[in-house]
Amino acid sequence: MRRIIKNGTVVTAADTYKADVFIENGVISQIGANLTAPDAEIIDADGCYVFPGGIDPHTHLDMPFGGTTTRDDFETGTIAAAFGGTTTIIDFCLTNKGKTLRSALETWHAKSKNKAVIDYGFHLQIVEANENVLNELPQVIEEEGITSFKVFMAYKNQFQADDETLFRTLIAAKEHGALVMVHAENGDVIDYLVKKALADGNTDPIYHALTRPPEAEGEATGRAITLTDLADSQLYIVHVSCAEAARKIAEARSKGIEIWGETCPQYLVLDQSYLEKPHFEGAKYVWSPPLREKWNQDVLWNALKAGELQTLGSDQCSFDFIGQKELGRDDFSKIPNGGPIIEDRVSILFSEGVKKGRISLNQFVDLTSTRAAKLFGLYPKKGTIAVGADADIVIFNPDTERVLSAETHHMAVDYNPFEGMQITGEPVSVLSRGEFVIREKQFVGKPGSGQYIKRAKYGKSQQAKTIETAAK
Ligand SMILES: [Zn+2]
Repeated sequence: MRRIIKNGTVVTAADTYKADVFIENGVISQIGANLTAPDAEIIDADGCYVFPGGIDPHTHLDMPFGGTTTRDDFETGTIAAAFGGTTTIIDFCLTNKGKTLRSALETWHAKSKNKAVIDYGFHLQIVEANENVLNELPQVIEEEGITSFKVFMAYKNQFQADDETLFRTLIAAKEHGALVMVHAENGDVIDYLVKKALADGNTDPIYHALTRPPEAEGEATGRAITLTDLADSQLYIVHVSCAEAARKIAEARSKGIEIWGETCPQYLVLDQSYLEKPHFEGAKYVWSPPLREKWNQDVLWNALKAGELQTLGSDQCSFDFIGQKELGRDDFSKIPNGGPIIEDRVSILFSEGVKKGRISLNQFVDLTSTRAAKLFGLYPKKGTIAVGADADIVIFNPDTERVLSAETHHMAVDYNPFEGMQITGEPVSVLSRGEFVIREKQFVGKPGSGQYIKRAKYGKSQQAKTIETAAK
């Protein structure tokens, strides 16, 4: 099937220009003016932007947590992602002590097989860095295309790893060409504060935020940076929520330490006061790190603008308010952590970022797509509009006014944390490798059409100068 997207404005991380985009065999084969072919289907993008499909580097689909499982799986989650203009996700594959890395991956392949409607990869959790794990690590990099590893510094007695594990993972990643990612919060301190709050009879959702202070995030961020510097390695810090962490990252980068930072839409537009909503509704906003005092939002926006934070993840991890968040009605520490964000990630950054003049249009593309593709070994097949790249494309109307709501979203969850928010701009049609997944705001994709992607080693795709050299 040959298709030509006509009359749109192509936007990449570097350029904005009027051009037609020719798609053949799932790949962009030409970009130029007045492209024609007798047998090609014409897609009119007049008045619209033509963006590279969004890449969400931070999702948790079909994930068990606190005795329950996220409502969105790889089918509903990727359909919602596509509606929101995302064409690739990288999900976190969890593991347990004593388990082989490969068996953890098998579990995640089983969850995603025949379900995803867009392409996907996995980051792999490291809970312990013993000899077995360290021996297997280069194999999963080479053979499975897993080139990023996640270490949790929080969730004591659950996901949390010790500093030795983080340090040895950093060293191994440097040696074998991978990127280490951390959830940076001091789990030991938080564990103490949570127990103390509960012992004092403080059980409401707001205590989730009060027992995870910004200092706990700042401390862990600084510690992870120091260990990275000591290991002469590279580090990506997920879901940066506050000034304490953002400043540590900016300072490290100014010293030349290879640190990357991600934030999420929820930290840019919501704040800690949401956890105080009456009738237990604060539970809808319980995730970690928690929402912060509102002044942190400006710090994060400025960090995005200045390039001190480089990516936007959703940290999608959806639980119903009724029946799931309610598990913590009498004890905030039992509220499953996470929120449904995957669908609105791109649109919120466009509306609040580009439309309000906080970031440029090209920065928006870099933050929602290109930079993640470069850091996680997907570029230049994904993350840009260029000849030879996969035709993962979003046709986006920048002028549509709409209201975000659980009534209209496509996530399989009973609330939307951005309920009632007025935004401007909307994905109209979304293509994955040249095939429509969303067409004129209707889902036309097929579960199972999304492919697992083996990703290139860290640093490799960042250095890819042109599509031509990459294709050889
Ligand atoms: Zn997460």
